[in-house]
Amino acid sequence: MKYGESVFVIEKEIISKDEIAFLIPQIYKLLHVRFGHRHWWPGDTRDEIMIGAILTQNTAWTNVEKAIKNLKKVDCLSLDRLASTSRSELEKMIRPSGYFRQKAERLMNFARIVLDYPDGPDAFFHHSQNLDEIRDRLLNINGVGPETADSILLYAASFPSFVIDAYTFRIFTRMALYDGKKDYMKLQKLITDNLELDLDLYRDYHAQLVELGKRYCRNRRPVCDTCPLNELCPKKGA
Ligand code: SF4
Repeated sequence: MKYGESVFVIEKEIISKDEIAFLIPQIYKLLHVRFGHRHWWPGDTRDEIMIGAILTQNTAWTNVEKAIKNLKKVDCLSLDRLASTSRSELEKMIRPSGYFRQKAERLMNFARIVLDYPDGPDAFFHHSQNLDEIRDRLLNINGVGPETADSILLYAASFPSFVIDAYTFRIFTRMALYDGKKDYMKLQKLITDNLELDLDLYRDYHAQLVELGKRYCRNRRPVCDTCPLNELCPKKGA
């Protein structure tokens, strides 16, 4: 039996659609009570957020912060400036974020595509367009996968496009709401089907899950005793 039918089967546990509909908003409420609003994404401009979304691939945010600081120091935290910087200079500045050669190439390519879009970046992200159309356009850019595309859409371009990451897979699997398969669109649909369509809620929900994943629902040795989801979680301590 698959999700979308009357019940959702997870490792022989059966969770009804009503339970899922209750749990998904409830998880957010509990996290918000514990952590407060996270005010994500850290970044002052659309360009800074987009650059951060690419730099954060396969690395911790603390490393991205160092790279962003270097870019800021020389006023290079915009697509315009990135596109006109030499590749070797850019590599040097973003080195702390890891995979710096690959990321420099991706950033320069991304900047060129968005800047060269007919009528420019504002037209690229204009809200008169269908969300899927812009998402597909982003996914066609080398190095932009679903998580990066949704991060850009949600936090830089203000579209309600829910971000799924490794923390989301882990937490929803441990909460027995999801079967654990790395199917990005399936988990995104499960969450958005059971959540009010609201930009701020989408932004903050993802930020809350990241906080939970870092502080409590760690890969190894999760801190279940004091986890804000403890009472709802069937896999606590597993
Ligand atoms: S109770 Fe434990 S396994 Fe469940 S969400 Fe919290 S930290 Fe993760």
